Amino acid sequence: MASDPILQIALPGPLRALYDYLPPTDPAHNPSIGCRYQIPFGPSSRTGVLIAMKAQSDVPPERLKRALQQIDPQPLLAAPDLRLLHWAAGYYQHPLGDVIFHALPVTLRKQHSGSRIRHNGVRLTALGKTVNPESLRRAPKQLALLQALAQASDGLDRPTLLNRHRISQAVIRTLLEKGWIEACPIPEAVHPVTTNPHSIDLNQEQGEAVAQVERNLGSFKPFLLQGVTGSGKTEVYLRLVERVVARGQQALLLVPEIGLTPQLLQRFQTSMGAGVAVLHSALADGERERVWHGVRRAHRPILIGTRSAVFTPMPKLGLIIVDEEHDLSYKQQEGFRYSARDLALVRGQQCGCPVVLGSATPSLESLRNAAEGRYSRLNLTQRVGNARMPPLKLLDIRSVHLDGGLSPALIKQLRQTLDAGEQALLFLNRRGYAPMLTCHACGWLTDCPRCDARMTHHRQLRILWCHHCGHQRPEPVHCPSCGSPDLRPLGQGTERVEETLQRLFPDTPLARIDRDSTSRKGSLEQLLSRVKAGDFPLLLGTQMLAKGHHFPAVTLVAILDIDQGLFGADFRASERMAQLVVQVAGRAGRAERPGKVLIQTRHPDHPLMQLLTSKGYEAFAAEALDERRAATFPPYSHQVLLRAESTKAADPENFLNRAIEVGRALHGSEPLEFWGPVPAPMARKAGKTRAHLLIQSAQRQPLHQWLGKWVSEITQLSAARRVRWSIDVDPQEML
Ligand code: ADP
Ligand code: ZN
Ligand code: ZN
Repeated sequence: MASDPILQIALPGPLRALYDYLPPTDPAHNPSIGCRYQIPFGPSSRTGVLIAMKAQSDVPPERLKRALQQIDPQPLLAAPDLRLLHWAAGYYQHPLGDVIFHALPVTLRKQHSGSRIRHNGVRLTALGKTVNPESLRRAPKQLALLQALAQASDGLDRPTLLNRHRISQAVIRTLLEKGWIEACPIPEAVHPVTTNPHSIDLNQEQGEAVAQVERNLGSFKPFLLQGVTGSGKTEVYLRLVERVVARGQQALLLVPEIGLTPQLLQRFQTSMGAGVAVLHSALADGERERVWHGVRRAHRPILIGTRSAVFTPMPKLGLIIVDEEHDLSYKQQEGFRYSARDLALVRGQQCGCPVVLGSATPSLESLRNAAEGRYSRLNLTQRVGNARMPPLKLLDIRSVHLDGGLSPALIKQLRQTLDAGEQALLFLNRRGYAPMLTCHACGWLTDCPRCDARMTHHRQLRILWCHHCGHQRPEPVHCPSCGSPDLRPLGQGTERVEETLQRLFPDTPLARIDRDSTSRKGSLEQLLSRVKAGDFPLLLGTQMLAKGHHFPAVTLVAILDIDQGLFGADFRASERMAQLVVQVAGRAGRAERPGKVLIQTRHPDHPLMQLLTSKGYEAFAAEALDERRAATFPPYSHQVLLRAESTKAADPENFLNRAIEVGRALHGSEPLEFWGPVPAPMARKAGKTRAHLLIQSAQRQPLHQWLGKWVSEITQLSAARRVRWSIDVDPQEML
């Protein structure tokens, strides 16, 4: 007998190894890479994915175990899908098994067992096929079910059985118990695209952008679509997706957050109907799996999804679009730390299709790539129709008495806007009532007991709440330190500004939009549609209001406090500040009436602020890139961050010092710089002491060659067992 092949199985979790197993004893076993297997593991069993096969194992034969069963008859992940996952595991130095399981819907990650997963359909078993119809003369419903299933080799779903065949749940249960039928998943049907006629004619710039990408369908080419806010980027995406689908291919559109892009979703759904699949975290697990399979089988040509959708198998992928490519939410900041934007480019390269990165405020990385010719530029410089870009004006609040965070000049402008029957939007990126409470008698502050941070006062909930670790406590009535009842809020959150606005404009309906006011499911959609209907002349919100929305009646946008962006510890702080300002400002004057943007600041002379408001984002970005080049910060260098945390104060630094030692010993002539270890910007969070070590290199290649070796060395360190550590390649935040 020919010897069994050895199956190499990947499992989720922190372990970097693959596991060797003998094939299951099932004679029908047909091993195929990308299928899941149930394997014995310790005292229990687990689900893994077959990654490779080999002739021999290093595990001694007596310790080699047999896989219990092959779960999927056909591979869940095809070769191109696994290629992307292999690449990601290598580049981000994350265990392959964990990367693969991250790419699967939750329902497919769990232990497979027919009883626990509620399948949506049933099919005949081998036993069921042998039943003699004569024997069921007195059970016509059971017979009907057997006959219906005899016609459907893949099984039928329960709604179809009920509606079309009038077969009740009780009959199904009876035959399940007899073992004549079994539960099985029924894939969703093929969804054709229904293209509806266009009501909009593209303008010249839009037409040019579409034509350029269209010319390159069928091969990899990256594009940077820079279109000012309101320039009609969505319309460009829509036309491109149509062309791709018309070629019989699939299109992937990544968005930062589904809930914040209702208009984009609506445009695609009205335009292309059920061919549009949507994947995001709020979907129920079962639904998510169905959508995933639908896309994987190419039953749905279009997928719109958030970050993790970049991994969805799409056998006919012909175009990838990343909307708002600068958005931080494309970066996963914990566990498997990857950038979906960057992986979209890798995927496009691997499968040979164009990749379009769209934004009004592209990241400095992408601007540099475009400037150096690696990305082709597509520009939309004009707003559609007669809409003009709003001017940005700085309001100096240095020696001004603020009323609940609002300057007199701003209040006057608000009044004029409301009197003219127009809508005003106020932006403050801080929820809650006030960022802290203080005791007027002794100076006590609401410090979080577990973090180097203050607890935010949420007055409506009557609590103090740490936004960093989630710790909550009831709102104090007296100072816990001196007993004084004179506790006062310091600074403003959206709740407090709402109170001020209600006092100043008591007869004007106001909508506050932040995580707290929209925590109930569906409440955000409801609020947004009422905003669009014009129910609220006053809008107040956090960055939930900044992105993507098209509020045609807004003519005044006020930015209350963004000064921290000018002086943040992070070298990216000013870039984020500028992007946020331009995005928020982009909500003003998107229709016939011209808009205006006011920015309250204590630093009106700051050069970057001056540049942004007088010359715009392009000029700002050029200057910021020059600064980065001079300081050799990314994108002019490449970084990797090693983070460590522990409840014991000295452990993280000990570990990081050991890591530097082995790192230095490993690197030969590569010019690597080691910065640290230093305490993290928030040195204590959730009761843990945190520190990090930054490694920087002018070239990516030597850094990555060294990194692989380094990670396997630090994994072995005994000091590593006393901390929680993680690697962040291309870190976006030092937090
Ligand atoms: P962006 O995403 O660039 O901010 P949108 O795609 O939201 O802009 O477009 C803004 C508005 O302009 C939308 O209501 C859209 O339907 C409309 N629009 C887009 N292109 C055109 C066009 N060529 N002619 C008329 N209206 C357009
Ligand atoms: Zn006190
Ligand atoms: Zn805390």
